Amino acid sequence: AKELGRNNFRFFTPALNETAQSRLETENSLRRALAKNEFVIHYQPVISLLSREIVGVEALVRWQHPRKGLLMPSSFIPVAEDTGLIIPIGEWVLRSACNQVRSWQKSGYPLRVAVNLSARQFRQPQLTETIRAVLLETSLIPESLEVEITESIAAEDLNVTISILRSLKDMGIRISIDDFGTGFSSLSYLRRFPIDTLKIDKSFVADILPRRDEEIVTAIINLAQTLKLKVIAEGVETREQLNFLAEKHCDEIQGYFFCRPLPQHELQPYLACHPLN
Ligand code: C2E
Ligand code: CA
Ligand code: CA
Ligand code: CA
Repeated sequence: AKELGRNNFRFFTPALNETAQSRLETENSLRRALAKNEFVIHYQPVISLLSREIVGVEALVRWQHPRKGLLMPSSFIPVAEDTGLIIPIGEWVLRSACNQVRSWQKSGYPLRVAVNLSARQFRQPQLTETIRAVLLETSLIPESLEVEITESIAAEDLNVTISILRSLKDMGIRISIDDFGTGFSSLSYLRRFPIDTLKIDKSFVADILPRRDEEIVTAIINLAQTLKLKVIAEGVETREQLNFLAEKHCDEIQGYFFCRPLPQHELQPYLACHPLN
């Protein structure tokens, strides 16, 4: 980065300059945050509608900022992606989450863990090696790890995507398509992807209201069943949504109705209970 000034001439309008300035500040503070270990993971339980038990958790990163308090991913993940810092941050999340879930498994909770991958991470050539190393290091079996990618990540350069997905699949980990229904509209690719799970975006789940149109949710559940994929609904906030999803045989749910994402020590007591009984 020191070399940038020498050969690159950059012309900024005042407005752009300001944005660039604040991005640079965020980038620098993200670097510091990483070095000072300021990131934390909150875990949100995933509940099976069949067994009514917690079957997994999704790892969601936050930044415990020394002055600004707890920052949500939307305020720093975009900059982390642009600057490439998402690679070390993402690796930290992966390692910490695998470690935590392995420790829960050792305490008798047979959970799996879902980790979000950004576009940069997904296309990084070392991805499979990094995951393999982390699994080895944490002694988590590959079947306990699920990676979540969005449709838009997957839809870019189909052949490359398929080969990355294959190498992840060959390792034994599971793959979910996150925010399903909001991105790429062609469905033909789905059959070509070695994936395990569709996650119905919470915007569609929010449409499950009395006397409202919930056809998209039904269609996604039916599609998943036809393709023999597991289907998870995220953003479940009400009993009505839960009942509707159960009636349609959605496999698993996630949402504030049962539990918000929580730090590890706050989630611990929930792990022993049977949430939907
Ligand atoms: P996502 O993967 O779609 O995660 C679900 C988001 O919905 C989370 O927001 C979660 O807190 C929120 N949520 C859960 N249940 C409910 C509910 O019942 N109602 C509503 N309205 N929202 C609910 P969060 O934690 O702010 O994360 C936002 C996004 O940031 C995530 O969306 C994901 O795309 C990204 N993200 C989070 N952690 C990571 C990470 O470690 N790496 C990467 N690359 N992205 C991450
Ligand atoms: Ca996700
Ligand atoms: Ca999602
Ligand atoms: Ca999302």
